[in-house]
Amino acid sequence: MIAEGMKAMVNGSSAIRAMFEEGKKLAEKYGAENVYDFSLGNPNVPAPEAVKEAICSIARDEDPLMVHGYMNNSGYEDVRGAIADHLNGLYGTDYAAKNITMTVGAAGGMNVFFKALLNPGDEVITFSPFFVEYRSYVGNYGGKLVEVPAVEGTFAPDAEALKAAVTEKTRAVILNSPNNPTGAVYSAADLEAIAAALREKEEEYGAPIYIFSDEPYREIAYDGVEVPWVPSFYDDTVVGYSYSKSLSLPGERIGYLVLPNKMEGFEEFASAVNIATRVLGFVNAPSLMQRVVARCLDEKTDVEFYDGNRKLLTEALGAYGYTFTEPKGAFYLWLKTPESDEAAFVNKAKEKHLLLVSGKGFGLAGWVRIAYCVSRQTVENALPAFKELAEEYGLLK
Ligand code: PLP
Repeated sequence: MIAEGMKAMVNGSSAIRAMFEEGKKLAEKYGAENVYDFSLGNPNVPAPEAVKEAICSIARDEDPLMVHGYMNNSGYEDVRGAIADHLNGLYGTDYAAKNITMTVGAAGGMNVFFKALLNPGDEVITFSPFFVEYRSYVGNYGGKLVEVPAVEGTFAPDAEALKAAVTEKTRAVILNSPNNPTGAVYSAADLEAIAAALREKEEEYGAPIYIFSDEPYREIAYDGVEVPWVPSFYDDTVVGYSYSKSLSLPGERIGYLVLPNKMEGFEEFASAVNIATRVLGFVNAPSLMQRVVARCLDEKTDVEFYDGNRKLLTEALGAYGYTFTEPKGAFYLWLKTPESDEAAFVNKAKEKHLLLVSGKGFGLAGWVRIAYCVSRQTVENALPAFKELAEEYGLLK
């Protein structure tokens, strides 16, 4: 008999699994090219050539006892130093190796940080809609995820609503910009307002409230939109980064945490995340990948490619009469369902071989997520299906 706590998770994930299985069945029946799977955030852009070269060169030329060995639980000192220097060059900061902890992707980083931070019953606030896994990452340590609606339409963060949701149990606020699932990018003014609200609440309760800035999409922003560096707005900020999207390495599980000196309790947290990495069973982030990313710090994914998909989709869906949020970053399009029963819409889309993810799991019903990190051909082939669906709903004028 599995644990009680797992039962809800197993039941909860069955909808996504069912969609995945159904996609596979549809592909077998109609051919993969006739199934338009927009359900997963798995990048379609291959990892840069430099990644392949780094893997080969490290495996061939570096000491295997070092490349494949254990190291400090926080990661290789030289890799962490190189990442700190890279960030200093970008953001004018003064980080050193001690401020960086290598992690098993963004997911590993969040789990490590919440393991270090949370006591049972503590609250973590996030703006809805949000990345579904936050519920587990907070719940794993007895924390409670508190959902505060973002401004419907733009999905900008609502600082006033955030302030109203803070209680004496609030330990952290998760921000995610560029955002999954809405594509929103938080502006400097948004961050100023959040920082002011949290500083006021820190003072009121006499305890730190940390921002966890979850940034796997940091470089994926369009039309020259700036993605501000959150720690420069608020001292008690921890950044979680991942190479899953920025270098298209989701299966390699590599990322890092930034713990700035200025955050309250820095020394204690630096030790705690080191030990959390070990006791959660990660032990350390993948060794070879640490060495690879240190050689690829200036590499970039093909943002133009995602932008091409974004433009194609937004122009077509706009012309067909759909309502959606214009994505400014990441590679998701957040679309309002033309009927209030969103499950019915998802099913009608599936009949046309369009696989979309229902918004309910992200904390906002009445919307669906379209992950456009797919091939250009998938987007092109899917447009007639989106058009037919719009016609059925009478959207197309
Ligand atoms: N946070 C957000 C907002 C994501 O979209 C994802 C993955 O899709 C993650 C975290 C987890 O990323 P990783 O693969 O680095 O664990």
